[in-house]
Amino acid sequence: MSFPGFSKILIAEEAVSTPLTKKAKAAWPDIAPQIVRNLADHELQLDMEPDPVAAGKRTLALGPNRGKFIRKCPGTMGLVCCNYWVIDLVEGCPIDCSYCILQGYLTDRRIRLATNINDLVDEIDAELAGGTQPVRVGTGELSDSLILDPQLGLAETLIDIFRTRPRATLELKTKTANIDSLLNLEPADNIVIGWSVNTPAIISSDERGASNLHDRLAAARQIVKHGWKVAFHFDPLVLHDRWEEGYRRVVDDIFSVAPPEKVAWISLGAFRFHPSLKQVIRDRFPMSDILNSEFVLCPDNKMRYVKPERLKLFRTLKNAIVAKAPSTPLYLCMEGIEIWESVFGGSPRGDKNLCQVFG
Ligand code: SF4
Repeated sequence: MSFPGFSKILIAEEAVSTPLTKKAKAAWPDIAPQIVRNLADHELQLDMEPDPVAAGKRTLALGPNRGKFIRKCPGTMGLVCCNYWVIDLVEGCPIDCSYCILQGYLTDRRIRLATNINDLVDEIDAELAGGTQPVRVGTGELSDSLILDPQLGLAETLIDIFRTRPRATLELKTKTANIDSLLNLEPADNIVIGWSVNTPAIISSDERGASNLHDRLAAARQIVKHGWKVAFHFDPLVLHDRWEEGYRRVVDDIFSVAPPEKVAWISLGAFRFHPSLKQVIRDRFPMSDILNSEFVLCPDNKMRYVKPERLKLFRTLKNAIVAKAPSTPLYLCMEGIEIWESVFGGSPRGDKNLCQVFG
């Protein structure tokens, strides 16, 4: 069975004849889809399964998105807003990371694919109308941007939309090596292909179903050669055995496949989680060591490593990255201004590398 291995496909009646639905039916021909009047009526069936999260990852649900596609990142804890928009075209992810917030965040555990892409285009144009400030847009918040690309070709659709809207920079963020469709396309200045990276040890213990580091970076090398810009996200940074050496090696590996001028940005985010995720990780990933550290509850109700450990993580990575690429925009994810100043010696507002990219 090829990945992702769906065992059930649900299609909303009104979405039966959309191009995306036809592609999905062709991609998984061995599954007889169930046509339903209302997808939401079938949402809770998964709660009867021994592992509802895993069962949700095997279920694809296609139907129109009734709400908004675009959410603007509200900014966090005193950090300057980096103008990031999130597009929810796919919600849910077939990859299975121990630390994934979606295990507790989404009430609907299925992989939901919105079939009304034309409405997305209208919404993007409405959001972009009138403004001039650059914005970054990404689809990798509630799923992996390329996980379904071999079957559904969503990357090409999104790239075609944004190619003609240069005020926005689209980032497709992934833990896969699913880049074949991108190699057939003309690169565009406002499209960035981003990889979440970690040490091989963490990928192997905590990122089930994701590509290994070697394959991700081999894909990044091809993408760079083809003329695209790339980005890298060290998120989550996890304290584990010999992490300093491990992360320094990942930094070296990144710059062996991508010269600094092709790297649009790099982010650093330390492992953080809502307290309710602790039991989920223990139940679903009993072999993971990711919880074996000291955590504190922060004002945003997330558990984080104690401050000295977080600073050590960020400084180690920052020093390794800046030594290789002093001009590459580098930023922290979900950290307050105090941590930012301790790591970078100043606020993000004063960083000219960031201002150029984030506005
Ligand atoms: S790749 Fe991202 S969205 Fe998918 S399971 Fe891992 S953390 Fe969650």
